Amino acid sequence: MNTQEYIALEEQFGAHNYHPLDVVIERAEGVWVYDVDGKKYLDCLSAYSAVNQGHVHPEILNAMIEQAKKVTLTSRAFRNDQLPLFYKEFSEMTGYDMSLPMNSGAEAVETAIKLARKWAYRYKNVARHQAEIIVCAGNFHGRTTTIISFSTEPLYRDDFGPYTPGFLVAPYGDVEAIERLITSNTAAILLEPIQGEGGVIIPPAGYLKQVADLCKKHTVLLIADEIQTGLGRTGKLFASQHEDVRPDMVIVGKALSGGFYPVSAVLADAPLLGLFQPGEHGSTFGGNPLAAAIARASLRVIREEKLAERSNELGTYFLEQLSEISSPHVKEVRGRGLLIGVELKPEAGGARRFCVALQEKGILAKETHDNVIRFAPPLVIDKDTIDWALPSIRDVLNMK
Ligand SMILES: *Cc1c(COP(=O)(O)O)cnc(C)c1O
Repeated sequence: MNTQEYIALEEQFGAHNYHPLDVVIERAEGVWVYDVDGKKYLDCLSAYSAVNQGHVHPEILNAMIEQAKKVTLTSRAFRNDQLPLFYKEFSEMTGYDMSLPMNSGAEAVETAIKLARKWAYRYKNVARHQAEIIVCAGNFHGRTTTIISFSTEPLYRDDFGPYTPGFLVAPYGDVEAIERLITSNTAAILLEPIQGEGGVIIPPAGYLKQVADLCKKHTVLLIADEIQTGLGRTGKLFASQHEDVRPDMVIVGKALSGGFYPVSAVLADAPLLGLFQPGEHGSTFGGNPLAAAIARASLRVIREEKLAERSNELGTYFLEQLSEISSPHVKEVRGRGLLIGVELKPEAGGARRFCVALQEKGILAKETHDNVIRFAPPLVIDKDTIDWALPSIRDVLNMK
C-alpha cells in the first residue's frame, strides 16, 4: 500500500479528531522516522515530548521485551516486583517522597485534582464540595470532561458541556490576578511552567517563584503540570527548577515511558500523597509491571545519557541559530532547552503551510496554535543534525 491508500483508509474508518501531516510513518530510530515510501525525516516534535530519549531506544526496548515475557499486568489487587523499584528510583531521582502512577497524562492531572481537593477538606477544613483550583488561561492539561471544563480554548470546550465546577482562570504570567482569586476555599494553583500546547509560552522571569511564594503565604498547593516540560525537555529535570521552585505536586507523563507505552504519575511528599486511602482512587493498568519496567528504563536513560544537560546545551545552540535567521514572517523565536517555538506574524498565513514545506525537506514539525512552529526534537539529537536542519529551516522561513 502507498501513502495515499493508508490516508484514505484512515479518513474513511477513523474519527477525524486530528489533522495530521500527510506522512505515514512505518519505523523510527533515534531522531529519525521513516515513511512507507522509505523517505527519512528528522522528528522535531518527539510525539509532543514523549520520545525525549529518541525513538525505539534500545535499552528501553530491551526492558520492555524482557518484562513482557515475564508478567505484564497483575492489577493492583496484587503486588508486583517492578513497581516498588520504580517508586524508589523515581523518588531518589526527583527528591519527592512518593509517586502515584497512572497511564495517560490527563489521568494524572485528574489524580492531582482529586488529591488537592481531598487535602483542602482534610487539611484546610474547606466545606465539602467547595474546594477551588486556580488555573491559567491558555492552559493545556488534557481532554477529560473535567479538564476541558477549565480550558480557555473554545475548540476543546464549547461542544462538550456541562462542565465540572470548582475552577477559576487567571491570565498566565500574572501573579496579582492569581492572588485576587485566592479565597479560604482555594485548594491549589495548577499551571504549566511553560505552556507547550499554548504555543511555547514562557512566563515572565520570577513568575513561578512568586506564585510559589503566594502558595506558601495562603496555604495553597502548587501543582506543576510537567507532562511536556519535565524529564529533561527544557534543560533541567523539571522546568520549575529554572526558578528553584519545588511544587507540592509535579505531574509527569509522556517521556516517562520514552514513548513506548502510556505511563504517567503524580509526585508529592508523604503527608500529601499519603492522604489517599485504599479504594479512593485507582486504575486497572496504573502501576502495572510492564509500565513500571519501561518507566524505570526510561528514567535510567535520562540519567545515564544526561539528557537534561544535553537539552540545555543543544537547545541553547539551536535557539541561537534559529534567532539569527532573518525572515519576513517571523515575529519571535523563544524557548528553553529543546522546547522551542517560532512564532510567525499573523500575516504569514499560518504555521501549517510552513510545516508542510518543512516536511518536503525532510523535517517533521507541527504547528501549535495556528501561528507557532514548535521545534522539540528528541533530546539525543546532536549538533551535526541541528546543523543539517538549519539551512532547510532557513529556506522555509523565507518562502513566499
Ligand atoms: C500532553 C499533555 C497533557 C495530556 O496528556 P495525555 O497523555 O495526552 O492525556 C497534559 N498536560 C500537558 C502539559 C501536556 O502537554
